[in-house]
Parts: sequence; structure tokens; C-alpha cells
Amino acid sequence: MNLGLSDEQRLLRDTVREFAAQEVRPVAEELDREKRFPYEIVAKLGDLGLMGIPFPEEYGGGGADTLAYVLAIEELARVDSSVCITVAAHTSLGTMPIYLWGSDEQRADWLPSLCSGERLAAFGLTEPEAGSDAGNTRTRATLDEGEWVIDGAKQFITNSGTEISGCVTITAVTGEASGTKEISNLIVANGTPGYVAGEPYRKMGWNASDTRPLSFDGCRVPEGNLLGPRGAGLRQFLEILDGGRIGVAAMGVGLAQGALDEAIAYARERRAFGRPIASFQAIQAKIADLSAEIEAARLLTYRAALQKDAGEPFSLTAAQAKLKTGRLAVRATEEAVQIHGGYGYIEEYPVCRFYRDAKILTIGEGTDEVQQMVIARELGL
Ligand SMILES: Cc1cc2nc3c(=O)[nH]c(=O)nc-3n(C[C@H](O)[C@H](O)[C@H](O)COP(=O)(O)OP(=O)(O)OC[C@H]3O[C@@H](n4cnc5c(N)ncnc54)[C@H](O)[C@@H]3O)c2cc1C
Repeated sequence: MNLGLSDEQRLLRDTVREFAAQEVRPVAEELDREKRFPYEIVAKLGDLGLMGIPFPEEYGGGGADTLAYVLAIEELARVDSSVCITVAAHTSLGTMPIYLWGSDEQRADWLPSLCSGERLAAFGLTEPEAGSDAGNTRTRATLDEGEWVIDGAKQFITNSGTEISGCVTITAVTGEASGTKEISNLIVANGTPGYVAGEPYRKMGWNASDTRPLSFDGCRVPEGNLLGPRGAGLRQFLEILDGGRIGVAAMGVGLAQGALDEAIAYARERRAFGRPIASFQAIQAKIADLSAEIEAARLLTYRAALQKDAGEPFSLTAAQAKLKTGRLAVRATEEAVQIHGGYGYIEEYPVCRFYRDAKILTIGEGTDEVQQMVIARELGL
């Protein structure tokens, strides 16, 4: 496995690192506290070409590979998970299905404004009764005079209700074939009558990101909004989740690294018993363990990205990376809070926010138990 980064990959990583330090870090605490969506940051990310990293340049994307995307996501998560999930959900969940399965017309309609960050895309798979059991979709779409009429509900949908949300791609039952549900994907534009993004959830973390329940009540969209072949919807969305896991794993690596960075800086500065706490072996051991685990998790995540870029099977590695990094982020942020003592429990210190932001990484885009199921299946069990 050649891990030498190309000039392009290094340039992208450094650009995002600098952007995160200069533009995101100074406002991250305030955005979290005020639960305010980062419109200005998204606009700047768009200007830098970071809202469409893996998409072809002909659509205004960055034409980068998965590893480059992973490096960018890692750098954002190192500083702020809300901004990071806004980019990740928009890119690998919202926009990717339109790029992969959209017709020429759908691509031309949506991709340029999504890649520029002028509009945001959301991905609507989860429903009140269909989370891990994604096939239990209840949302229905019926053809009527050249239009799909959609009725149902989605929940926990990221990027769905901002002022710049352009569309959501959803799964819906479009019929039955030999006794099983036929599930298809549809693009629903924000502003379509009958489609309502509800009030944002009050969350444990990711406070500056937008997450809402959606309802569809006699919502009519053109027949041409079908995304990919009729009946391929669940397979398509599971494929999206497979790739998305690599990005979420990168979020775990970045968040764990950010927590470690803060812990090291604080341990050098804070004194107890007449010396910096960094000089105590108990603190050094925590930091040493975390650094080794983060490096291992990073390599696993990069390996999944390299496999995807090489066109090799990557489901097993992606699920392993997602499982490993989510748990690591939870543990690393907890240890970082511990190293900060009482100040770790105070919101002015980034590790406090990091701790709240970490937990979702063992739940979103497939829970740990779902990753275990995927891994076991890939191992032939
Ligand atoms: C902040 C946030 C943002 C999100 N963004 C999006 C988004 O943009 N788009 C989207 O579609 N979804 C999104 N989600 C939804 C997320 O992907 C789901 O919450 C997740 O997949 C789990 O589904 P669930 O909540 O229905 O839990 P459930 O599936 O009800 O699971 C409950 C528990 O049961 C366990 N479990 C379930 N089945 C099994 C089994 N067979 N074996 C063992 N254990 C099992 C689970 O692991 C879990 O511990 C988001 C969620 C949150 C909180």
C-alpha cells in the first residue's frame, strides 16, 4: 500500500487545515452555543471549491479522489464536527447519488450549484420505523398523470432545512414485485408543495449542523425525478452508505486527533504539584496510547479510501474503519476531557464540545452493531 501523498492531495489537506484554523476555529464555539448554521463558512468553502471535492471539474467539482476527500474531512473534523458533517453529508450522501445515478439532465440541473455550495443536498433514508432496518421504508410514491405523488415521513435528515437546502434524495416504495417492496429513489426539491422540513432537533452535539424531520403529504414531483432505475433505490442507497462510511471514519480520525492536539497543548500548560501535568507518566501514557490508536485508525481509513480509488472491494475495510474510528473518537474525547480536569467540563474549552460531538459517530451512517453485521457478512458468517 503506497501511502505517499500526491502533490494535489497534500495541497488540498494543507488548504483545508489552514482554512479550518483561520476561519472555523475562531467561531466554532459560538456557532455551537447559538446552534447557528454556518452559512458564511459554507459560502467560503464553496469559493475554495470544497463543497464538491470528488466530483468532476465539468460540474464545478474538484475532480479529486477519495483519499483527498478523506484528508479534507479529517482536517475539518479536527476543528469542528458541525461544519464537517455539513460538508460530508452534502458531498457523500446528498450529492453523490445525483452524480452516480442522475441522468444527464438531472446532473446538469443540480451538480453545478451543489458543487459550488450555492445549494445544499440532503439524503433521506431514515424513517420513524426504518433506521438500521432501512428496507422497512414506509414512504410511498405513486405515479399519477406523469407525476410521483409522495406520502410519508423521514427523520434525522442532515442539511434538509437550511435557507440554501436545494433538494433531498429519498427512498420511497413505488410498488411491489413478487411479494417484495419495490423501493426507488426520487429527487425532491425544497419548496415543492406538500414537502415540509420540520423544526430542527435539539441535539447532544453537531449543534451548528441542520437536522430535521421531513414530511411528505400528497407531494407531487415530475416523473423524471426518479433517480436511477425504478426498484434500484435501496441497493443504490446502501452503496452510498458504503462509500459514506469512509468519510465518517475520517471524521472519527479527525475528531480524535483534534482532541489529542488539545490534550497535549493543555497538559504542557497546566501545572500541578509544581510541574506541568504533561510530566506525569499517567498523563503521558494516555497521550501515547491515543496517538498510537489514532495512527492505526488513520491508516485503516486511508486503506479503505485507497481500495475505493483502486476500484477494489472496500466494504469490509470501510465498515472496520467506521467501527474503529467512532469508538476511538468517543474514547479520545473522553480522555481529553479527563486531561483537562474541571476545565474539560466547561464549554469554553473545545474538548467539551468534542466530547458531545463524538457519540453520534457510533450511531450515524450505520450503528456500531450494523457495522459488526456488515463485517461479519463480509467475513462469510
Ligand atoms: C444527528 C443525526 C444526523 C443524521 N443524519 C441522517 C441523514 O442525513 N440521512 C439519513 O437518512 N439518516 C440520518 N441519520 C439517521 C441515522 O443514520 C440513524 O439514526 C441510524 O442509522 C440508526 O437508526 P435508528 O436511529 O432508527 O436506530 P435503530 O435502527 O432503531 O437502532 C436502535 C438500536 O438497535 C440496534 N439494532 C438494530 N437492529 C439491530 C440488529 N439487527 N442487530 C443488533 N442490533 C440492532 C442498533 O444498533 C441501535 O443500537 C442521522 C441521525 C442523527 C442522530
